[in-house]
Amino acid sequence: MNKKLLMFIIAAVFSIAAVHGSYAKTFVTIGTGGVTGVYFPAGGAICRMINKKSQIYDIKATVEPTGGSVHNVNAVLAGDIDLGIVQSDIQYQAVKGLDQWKDRGPQTKLRAVFSLHPEVVTIVASDKSKIRKLADMKGKRINIGNPGSGQYVNSEDIFSAAGLKISDIKVEKTKAVDAPALLHDGRIDAFFYTVGHPNSNIREAVSGRMKVRFVPVDAEQADYLIKKFPYYVKTFINVKDYPAASGGRKNVSAVGVKATLVTSSDVSDKVVYAATKEIFDNLEEFRSLHPALANLTQKDMLQGMTAPVHSGAMKYYKETGLDRYISSDLR
Ligand code: GLU
Repeated sequence: MNKKLLMFIIAAVFSIAAVHGSYAKTFVTIGTGGVTGVYFPAGGAICRMINKKSQIYDIKATVEPTGGSVHNVNAVLAGDIDLGIVQSDIQYQAVKGLDQWKDRGPQTKLRAVFSLHPEVVTIVASDKSKIRKLADMKGKRINIGNPGSGQYVNSEDIFSAAGLKISDIKVEKTKAVDAPALLHDGRIDAFFYTVGHPNSNIREAVSGRMKVRFVPVDAEQADYLIKKFPYYVKTFINVKDYPAASGGRKNVSAVGVKATLVTSSDVSDKVVYAATKEIFDNLEEFRSLHPALANLTQKDMLQGMTAPVHSGAMKYYKETGLDRYISSDLR
């Protein structure tokens, strides 16, 4: 080959690479939950905030519906997704190597980014099932959610608070997205869903052709749970969120956890910094994107994490002085 031609080919290859380089986006995937929950729209809201600055960061974020918290932790650690929304109790178990991570041990690559909305371990029962309190679930057909979801893990704790074992229950393991229809078809008596409120799944459940109600976790049962599992807090379901539910005008006592955003230590600072900065700098807009996000505060968003905070997020928190709200062992 003559020298001129060779130089021409080399120059052409370099200029194509340069052009491509300038458009080469980093694609970021956020793992969420079922489409009728809060993770999916919350993940969509995170994407929206990042993608507004797509030009600046050279990042394009997309949201993915998934099986929920446990699935998301494993998918983040496997590098299948970059960011994942997971319950604070599931984050805790993964970091400490408990429960479903007992055999594999502490998940040392897991990193926290920030916390999101509160989630309530919600139990919805058909009126005709006659389930009015936890103990009434004995012998009933209950959907505890798909393996991989947060509610699948929480349901066993809740049964224990009523002195029930999983073997006392006719257990269904279907995704939350299908649970309202199963309830209305009479194929289950109740279902668990650990989720932020309000959400379209529970709206669908309470406004169908069958009357349904919430099953409370009473104060004594909540105390028992909090003593045994440090990640639960006392909370309630606001009846105003679901006026169509039967069972009176009183808020329903319950236990809850927090939704949190996690990633892996393998994910770049650039991506995690962009996500953190765009949400915190534009928190008011972010809060307006879903009613379950409406009450978020910067300080609350830095509580409820157990994994070390990712270095890209930490960079932003140090720049803004928000690091003072983060527990010192996570910095
Ligand atoms: N907390 C549920 C889970 O971890 C998901 C809730 C939601 O999608 O909003 O599986």
